[in-house]
Amino acid sequence: MSSSAVQASEKSLLQPSIIPRPEHSISRKDIDSDALKVLYRLHSHGYLAYLVGGGVRDVLLGRKPKDFDVATDARPSEVRKLFRNSRVIGKRFRLIQVFFRGGKIIEVSTFRRPAEEDNSEVLSDNNTFGTPAEDALRRDLTINALFYNIADYSVVDYVDGLADLKAGRIRAVGNADVRFHRDPVRVLRAVRHAARTGFTLTPDTLEAVREHRSELCLCPTSRVRDELMRDLKGGAAAAWLELAHDTGVLYSLLPTLEPYYGPQDSPLRARAAQLLSRVDQALAQGKDVEEAVVLCLLFWPALEMLAEEQEFAPGRQGRSQWALWVRDALPELSEPVAFAKRILERACQIAGLMGFVTLATPGQAMPKKVVARGYYPVACDLAGFLDLDLEGMNRSGTDNGTTKRRRRRRRRRKPRNKSAPPS
Ligand code: ATP
Ligand code: MG
Repeated sequence: MSSSAVQASEKSLLQPSIIPRPEHSISRKDIDSDALKVLYRLHSHGYLAYLVGGGVRDVLLGRKPKDFDVATDARPSEVRKLFRNSRVIGKRFRLIQVFFRGGKIIEVSTFRRPAEEDNSEVLSDNNTFGTPAEDALRRDLTINALFYNIADYSVVDYVDGLADLKAGRIRAVGNADVRFHRDPVRVLRAVRHAARTGFTLTPDTLEAVREHRSELCLCPTSRVRDELMRDLKGGAAAAWLELAHDTGVLYSLLPTLEPYYGPQDSPLRARAAQLLSRVDQALAQGKDVEEAVVLCLLFWPALEMLAEEQEFAPGRQGRSQWALWVRDALPELSEPVAFAKRILERACQIAGLMGFVTLATPGQAMPKKVVARGYYPVACDLAGFLDLDLEGMNRSGTDNGTTKRRRRRRRRRKPRNKSAPPS
């Protein structure tokens, strides 16, 4: 048995700290009523029922959780029987999704065991049921491994997560070096949660982030891409960019950005952080920001720098040149992360329209056919973040010749109109 496996089995024998209701701040008022229904139903049928993960963390931090996940000792088939409005998902590890009104989903998982300690290969299957202690030990960060027990409203803490939460620490559960090697996506998760909470990575966790960041390329691209999007749209993208730069994680993900954002005092990175902080503000105000927009903003300062090496003619010709160039340059910059084709395509479309402002000629207006395109409003959003007045181009000036031509054609046709008086 490896030393980490010994460590894990020893820990799983440990008793958790139980923090009774009067000594913690989680109130049932802060918990989604449907999540409470799920917890109560499991409990009333004799099962353990814990609220787990980000839901517990965020309520303890006084924040509104994005989702509420439940863990139980009931097996998936038993959970399924209790909730008719549910379905089983997952091949590797079966989860139950319980559906509620308004598309709300509460995910219920059976306590899992960390299979990884028995296996030194990266990303081996993890599909065995376990005890609550084992379930806590398989989680990524201590602040994400706290349980709220509906039976007595206590917090169950196997990993000293509450102390870390109070002290503002991001610490890996168990041996950071082993855990991050086992699943390098945890590197991203550590950086995200540090950026989001403003907490400090503990020295061993920080070291493991630096050590294992290069292993991100071993993870399935879809996981990395999804986690990165969560970083960019999680409300703390600017802080994330800085921390991802400091730790080098940004350049493990996107080596293409290193020449631009890598230098310590890079004005380009400062600009990218400023643009992303605008996204953070918009999200905080409850606005929706499309993924394509966020993607453009992350790369924009680098893209502008690259564009300086190009020569774009002013006006119409330059706009086409720009749009064509962006179609190559943006995918090249973002290539190391396999962003979804649909999002990348949309990003190229909207970035392409920025040429209407940056390469504008006097008196020029937006052709109507461009304004009519489905992605024009998204392009206006992007322009807003970039301080480019794309909408103004639509309001002012004359068109680039097309309108004049059309007007002339229309005037010629008029006498042929049946309702027109005979000339
Ligand atoms: P968010 O607020 O962004 O949803 P979260 O912590 O809830 O944050 P999820 O991706 O929803 O993140 O995951 C739920 C929980 O599952 C986490 O809190 C953590 O305990 C556990 N978890 C997720 N990913 C991993 C991982 N790669 N390794 C170990 N545990 C993980
Ligand atoms: Mg979550």
